[in-house]
Amino acid sequence: MRSDDTPLIRLEDYRPSDWLIDTVDLDISLHPTKTRIRSQLALRPNPAGRPGAPLVLDGDELKLVAIRLDGLLIDEAAYSVTPQQLTLHAPPTRRFTLMIDTEVDPSANTKLMGLYLSSHVYCTQCEADGFRRISYFLDRPDVMSVYTVRLEARKLIAPVLLSNGNRVAAGELPGGERHFAIWHDPHPKPAYLFALVGGALDHVRQSYVTAEGRSVELAVYVEPGKADRAGWAMDCLVRCMRWDERVFGRNYDLDVFNIVAVSDFNMGAMENKGLNIFNDKYVLADPQTATDGDYASIEAIIAHEYFHNWTGNRITCRDWFQLCLKEGLTVFRDQEFSADERSRPVKRIADVRTLRTTQFSEDAGPLAHPVRPRAYKEINNFYTPTVYEKGAEVIRMLKLLVGEAAFRAGMDLYFERCDGTAATIEDFLGCFAETSGHDLTHFARWYEQAGTPTIVASGRYDAAARSYTLDLAQKTAPTPGQPEKQPVVLPVALGLVGGSGDLPLATTSEAYAGNGIVIFDQPSLSVTFTDVAEPPIPSLLRGFSAPVRLELDLDEAALLRLFSADSDPFNRWQAWQTVAMRALVEAGRDPGRLDALVTTGQALATGLRGFLTTQAPSDPAFAAQVLRLPALGDVAREIGRDVDPDAIQAAHRRLSTEIGHRLGPDLLDLRERLASAARYSPDAASAGRRALRNELLGLIALSAPDSGAQLAEAQFAAGDNLTDRLAALAAMTLIPGEAREALIARFAKTYAAEPLVLDKWLMAQALIPESGTLDRVRSLMQHPAFSLTNPNRVRALIGGFAANLTQFNRTDGEGYAFLAEIVIALDRTNPQVASRLLASFKSWRMLEPRRKALAETKLGMVANTPNLSRDVADIAERTLA
Ligand code: ZN
Repeated sequence: MRSDDTPLIRLEDYRPSDWLIDTVDLDISLHPTKTRIRSQLALRPNPAGRPGAPLVLDGDELKLVAIRLDGLLIDEAAYSVTPQQLTLHAPPTRRFTLMIDTEVDPSANTKLMGLYLSSHVYCTQCEADGFRRISYFLDRPDVMSVYTVRLEARKLIAPVLLSNGNRVAAGELPGGERHFAIWHDPHPKPAYLFALVGGALDHVRQSYVTAEGRSVELAVYVEPGKADRAGWAMDCLVRCMRWDERVFGRNYDLDVFNIVAVSDFNMGAMENKGLNIFNDKYVLADPQTATDGDYASIEAIIAHEYFHNWTGNRITCRDWFQLCLKEGLTVFRDQEFSADERSRPVKRIADVRTLRTTQFSEDAGPLAHPVRPRAYKEINNFYTPTVYEKGAEVIRMLKLLVGEAAFRAGMDLYFERCDGTAATIEDFLGCFAETSGHDLTHFARWYEQAGTPTIVASGRYDAAARSYTLDLAQKTAPTPGQPEKQPVVLPVALGLVGGSGDLPLATTSEAYAGNGIVIFDQPSLSVTFTDVAEPPIPSLLRGFSAPVRLELDLDEAALLRLFSADSDPFNRWQAWQTVAMRALVEAGRDPGRLDALVTTGQALATGLRGFLTTQAPSDPAFAAQVLRLPALGDVAREIGRDVDPDAIQAAHRRLSTEIGHRLGPDLLDLRERLASAARYSPDAASAGRRALRNELLGLIALSAPDSGAQLAEAQFAAGDNLTDRLAALAAMTLIPGEAREALIARFAKTYAAEPLVLDKWLMAQALIPESGTLDRVRSLMQHPAFSLTNPNRVRALIGGFAANLTQFNRTDGEGYAFLAEIVIALDRTNPQVASRLLASFKSWRMLEPRRKALAETKLGMVANTPNLSRDVADIAERTLA
């Protein structure tokens, strides 16, 4: 389908469904190629709908086998059916039941939407609109029903049969070969939360009693033989359940909670009611096959999906435009959970890094869209960093704005008032307006306006008046469809840093909300602080209080002073990053200025030397974040136009090398001191030590390749955990030569039986910033570890390559050609994964003219390919627009 012919779905066109479905009874007989689904729907006219309207059910590649109305056959003229739609032209204007039989082929379902087989396990993925690939239905989130599901399968193939809710019956069928299970979910839910699983799976289990006293059986199901890797996920589940009771007063509401890990999954995981289905990458963990980063993301995603039980399931979305209602809020909740379980400042720094690399880049390019989009052609293309990560930032700002107490009260009110409904952003904000007394109309603009605002700030000290005036201005660049931008509400957390720490803040400004927060909601604002005893250094956007770019003209000395003296750890880190960023931007813009990096390297090394010896050992996780320079893509975006990726790469390497050279032996010393004899433990403190050690290793590899290579080899050999071994491999990839190739080969041999580990191996190679990488990637596609049908493999190798700034953006355009070729091939089997890959072109317009022209040609080639999926056609069209 060409995207031009695809209808645009608009928020303003929303109207309630004409029909409601009170109960759904499914009887599903699982078979690898011929699965039979009998669906009985209890329908009734929606009082809020149009009386006498036809009943139009959604389908997608469906085959209707039989249909009955109140048990009777229907005249053929009374309905029409296609694979996409089943219409009853004049249904009864009262309650009635519809029985629909369909048949699907799970083995042929390569889109991984609907019912499919993943390594012999039957599983489903229904969000956003996959249920219509199982049966004809009113597949929209505001149609909520109580489900009863009977599953039947061969015992040998699928001894485990799971669905949503509680299991109410199970047994064998005559003949002994097949068995069944019946599941009932008392909570009305939209079809996108339906799920089933059937397969031979191992599990771990644990009993849990909620704060309200409900006993819950928890289980994590994994591929046979992998149960010993499910313990961490279970541990995370128990911790996040307790946390939600304590922090949000939310208890679990069924007798069982099941998590299933599958190896073929388009996304991270899915919050199906009582039956979360996960990409196994976000469940399986042991020290040998998962890194510290994996442990942390498993913790975050287990929590995320669990938290959806209230923010997403008990209260769902009225329509898909409200996606951020559940996603932004749930990301906020999982971020807070991780912050409480680990180091809050380090978690914030990591989240802001992600926000900048993924969301700011989206906001700066052709795919920019509001947190709540107004129109879409393909909803699957809106599971984006803007909806998720920026959506979470909006909640964070809301909390700052209304304060802790009104925020909690607003959440309580939301849970109470909207429970059991399909809600909107307006419903949500209304609760906080009520509990805080704030008018949130202006704040709501965050949901409507795309683009990252920039704050331009400057300050003046008046010694005679002992006052300090801060001048702020805000602006947002145009984004597609939004040429004019309005000011947004920005909570600016700030401090004035004096010779011995924060100075007291006194001002009569109405914009000052107390607690060090200025509410900046106009195009410009001046705030004067009085009784300022000395010229201060402003520390703005503490904790990254708003998702904006900040332009503040502080000199290097002032920034380095903030780095050592700011009471806000985020801004200490930020000050450091700003020094590095400025130097990288300068040299990245003008390769003639590469040598100027020597001076910056020197200044940074001097600052680091003290820091590394005195403070780093007590907070190594923070120190690791300091050592890591801004990402190449972030530098590119700061440069903004005529970007030359090679120049940025050269600058990045040069600055790291300079710092490494100057610190020389200090790096080795510190690395020695951080070594630990203790057995591997994934806790945040130990992970922080490893993170710092491994950052140091990276610096050594760049500045002293010979000793770097030796250290990396030794670390790989001695490593009792994947974190250190992978870091050894990553450091080695920075050092071309035979030793590198040998370690790459050795790594593959060591982990030959571990697909998830080999994903990291594929990615490490795809990220090598050398011209040989494209050929390497092409040949890795032939490696037995790679497969174009498994999303994790594709994301690791092809996604990794697309994230390689210099090699994807090769001057000969071969990187673009390669990606275009893969996208076109993959689109035939898995459009969702294909369209996500294609979105890697999102920053093409900021490139220098030659690359820009090449990228445009290849994008055009994709756009003009016949029979594209709606997913890929939509991204191609918007990226080129
Ligand atoms: Zn989510």
